[in-house]
Amino acid sequence: MKTIRDFDLSGKKVIIRVDFNVPMKDGKITDDNRIKASLKTIKYALDNNAKVILLSHLGRIKTEEDKLNNSLKPVSVRLSELLNMPVKFIPVTRGIELEDAITNMNNKDIILVENTRYEDLVNKAESSNDKELGKYWASLGDLFINDAFATSHRTHASNVGIASHLPSGIGFLIEEELKALDLDNAERPLTIILGGAKVSDKIGLINNLAKKADNILIGGGMAYTFIKASGIDVGSSLLDEENIEFAKTMLEKYKDKLVLPIDSVNKDKNGNIRTCFINEIKEDEAGLDIGIQTIKLFKNYLSDSKTVIWNGPVGKFEESPFDNGTKELCKILESLDIKKIAGGGDTASAVINLGYKDAFTHISTGGGASLELLEGKKLPGVIYEEENN
Ligand code: AMP
Repeated sequence: MKTIRDFDLSGKKVIIRVDFNVPMKDGKITDDNRIKASLKTIKYALDNNAKVILLSHLGRIKTEEDKLNNSLKPVSVRLSELLNMPVKFIPVTRGIELEDAITNMNNKDIILVENTRYEDLVNKAESSNDKELGKYWASLGDLFINDAFATSHRTHASNVGIASHLPSGIGFLIEEELKALDLDNAERPLTIILGGAKVSDKIGLINNLAKKADNILIGGGMAYTFIKASGIDVGSSLLDEENIEFAKTMLEKYKDKLVLPIDSVNKDKNGNIRTCFINEIKEDEAGLDIGIQTIKLFKNYLSDSKTVIWNGPVGKFEESPFDNGTKELCKILESLDIKKIAGGGDTASAVINLGYKDAFTHISTGGGASLELLEGKKLPGVIYEEENN
């Protein structure tokens, strides 16, 4: 696998696929973290005298109207502020205007091309990796660097398509993500905190993690399916009936690794909130968070770990006080001088929104892509380049 450091960039037209899929409201960027996360690769290319051509998608484009709300123009303005230099915005995804702009570039110039998914309006060309489109974009540059981790689990024209026609490598962001989520080389003991709503969403994850991790601390809605599988009634808590058998099998096979909650914070149908031991949940109560005894139990495992990877909130964190378990685990991690990684699904935004960004050594920028890595899958946006070089 080549990285941007393996290429001589000077004077080259370097196409960088970045992830500028930022949240927008009324044409304004509400969170610029993804732009900031790509600065390292962009600056490196500029410092090394490249002509930098940026490609990214933003949102989904299904109608002409979607184009109006998903232009990358505001991103070019923010990027220009962050880099403290002009960023030329090209309001099209192909054609003379784009080609001329590239021909007229000097070294250390930077352009941002309009949203790659504008191309989806015709036969989903970008998202279905239309061969001609990938070839056309590749014809605009000399080298291709993929640094859009969040889409690297997808086979699109703007990653796999271009990479199949140009010398290609990965940028710093993808490199860091691969390293952070590398279960095989993690320092041990490796403990996983696994939460979230449903077991069904996490079967691949549980299968892989159970093999590779030393401990798996299970919380969130999915814990109640495991508790039920261990023979304890869970009242009106979230229950994934179809996966009780799976949970049973996992509990038998990995009994030394899987750690279940021992108490639960519940809400009954009248809105009353009560904490109880796990075998005392009443029929009309739904368990919505881990209790204080579980937090203490989990703390013992976390304190003995060298690496912690966290996927999925351990409670219904959007609703106070059921954010307590997730917050307390963040606080415990904050106090530990070990490698701490949050990623997959909505985990990153959960810990950031709760105010614990700094508790982690790495917060993954890719929801689906990090999940697939943790499931042990290879990412086409990364692997293809490996095969191609
Ligand atoms: P996921 O996307 O699978 O990581 O799930 C995240 C969602 O799980 C969040 O919206 C949480 O509110 C929800 N969640 C976590 N714990 C529980 C619980 N005990 N009961 C219901 N929902 C939960």
